[in-house]
Amino acid sequence: MGMIESKDRATSDPGARKDVMKQMEKEGVQYVLFWFTDIEGHLKSFAITPSEIEGALNDGMGFDGSSITGFNAIEESDMVAIPDPTTYRLMPTREGEAKVGRMICDVVKPDGTPYEGDPRYALRRALERMESMGFDTFNIGPELEYFLFESNKGTVTLDEGGYFAMTALDAATELRNETIQALEAMGIGIEYHHHEVAPSQHEIDMRYSNALDMADQTITYRLIVKEVAAKNGVYATFMPKPLFGENGSGMHTHMSLFKDGRNMFFDGSDQYNLSVTGKAFIAGLLRHARELAPIFAQWVNSYKRLVPGYEAPVYVAWSQRNRSALIRIPLYKPGSEQATRAEIRCPDPACNPYLTFAALLHAGLEGIEKGYELEPPMDSNLYHLTSEERKERGIVSLPETLGEAVDELAASELMRRALGDHIWDAYVRLKRKEWDEYRIQLTQWELDRYLGVL
Ligand code: GLU
Ligand code: MG
Repeated sequence: MGMIESKDRATSDPGARKDVMKQMEKEGVQYVLFWFTDIEGHLKSFAITPSEIEGALNDGMGFDGSSITGFNAIEESDMVAIPDPTTYRLMPTREGEAKVGRMICDVVKPDGTPYEGDPRYALRRALERMESMGFDTFNIGPELEYFLFESNKGTVTLDEGGYFAMTALDAATELRNETIQALEAMGIGIEYHHHEVAPSQHEIDMRYSNALDMADQTITYRLIVKEVAAKNGVYATFMPKPLFGENGSGMHTHMSLFKDGRNMFFDGSDQYNLSVTGKAFIAGLLRHARELAPIFAQWVNSYKRLVPGYEAPVYVAWSQRNRSALIRIPLYKPGSEQATRAEIRCPDPACNPYLTFAALLHAGLEGIEKGYELEPPMDSNLYHLTSEERKERGIVSLPETLGEAVDELAASELMRRALGDHIWDAYVRLKRKEWDEYRIQLTQWELDRYLGVL
């Protein structure tokens, strides 16, 4: 820390920097957390004292990037974290605890230029592409699901509740309320929350926002959910499929593109109320879905969720009603033009939200730029079709394993452009390694199945 020369590297508005310093002084914060993520989306945090804050806002704080997953190895490992003053928030605290602020950082090189390995930069670049195509806002509404367990040592559930279960069964209602209060205290708008289908499974939905804010909010959300659970003596997990035979946890992601306050996905004269732009965006997501998979579903375990029968999508198709399709267009209600959107149902809440939103945006923009045609919707339940029927209708499936997904990513020119060479290369290597470690494991299932008969 601090081994990098002082020099003004900030690109933020000087007024915003002054305001945030005043606010911190008024609030009497004892220290400020600086946050960023590695390429897998793990939150990285370090704390600085108020006396260092002015210098840190202007020059950034140096750190050694060599121990951050997906960042540079030993050579060229000096990195600088520059806090974004607009992301300043006071962390929720209980009586008597220290006052702590937090800011999200962009990671730059010592010369002040953006670091290609920073996931937030990949999202910023995707948004630049969007702006160059005439849009100004990519709105995102993610629905993160998670489980509460007695501890992180096992999967003992806290209740037997089900979808929308009410208080008597829902041991965690109080906990959910406390979580929502903590999220709202950090400026995160909450729209909706309920018990999910599986035992001990919950969902708290944030009010939509632009993609960069939403990625910042998503990493904050995950931390708050975990912290509030821990303070109450239980464990919250975003692992995509922790319980065999039960629904996994998804992160359905609602998306729309805006320009000058108008929703560019809406066209009232179309039978689906979708504009040419909206349709081409969806066509882009569908055509590139297999290449995107290792970004929105990045773990070996993610592919245990993406199987038939648990309300998670498997087939690459879109629909207005059918929840087995990959993309759903929520039904249009008159007067709700602004809410016309595409809901992609395959991401899981353990993804890196910066890379996921960037990859989704690039795939959609590719559809718009190249004028992809959208196939008609698939309104029958795709799970009930035989594999021959699916083949006849040209329905493609998502990759079945992380290994298959990584092969798609490694061959994807679009994803290489979307992530940039550095992240693309590091990500492919990292995920191949994860897959290789997994595929050589011997499982209890194999011993039970084969040992006695072979
Ligand atoms: N938990 C389901 C999934 O894995 C989604 C259930 C729902 O909200 O419809 O995606
Ligand atoms: Mg849900």
